[in-house]
Amino acid sequence: MNEIQEIIDLITAFRDERNWEQFHNAKDLAIALSIEAAELNEIFLWKTPDQAMESNREDIADELADVLVYAFYLAKKFNFDIKEIIHQKMKKNALKYPVEKARNLATKYNQL
Ligand SMILES: [Mg+2]
Repeated sequence: MNEIQEIIDLITAFRDERNWEQFHNAKDLAIALSIEAAELNEIFLWKTPDQAMESNREDIADELADVLVYAFYLAKKFNFDIKEIIHQKMKKNALKYPVEKARNLATKYNQL
């Protein structure tokens, strides 16, 4: 079994033991993911990146894990293959951000 499937099985078991799938519609999963991303952002608020990373490493790991868990639940809801959708999106990103145009630039693709 691959590691992605192990994670999906772990979080699915956690959810099913609590009978929480009934609450996991796509809208609420997307909102929860966004809220967890905001909690991650809050750790960095009013600090330099270094300050946040030095003093809140465990909190960052926890909030990042929350974001990923909801992302995995959402992918499962749509029966997306996580490896496949990441590969597909990276192909699209490569077209949007060709190395020869994007290297060393933090510019959005439509302004390259
Ligand atoms: Mg959280």
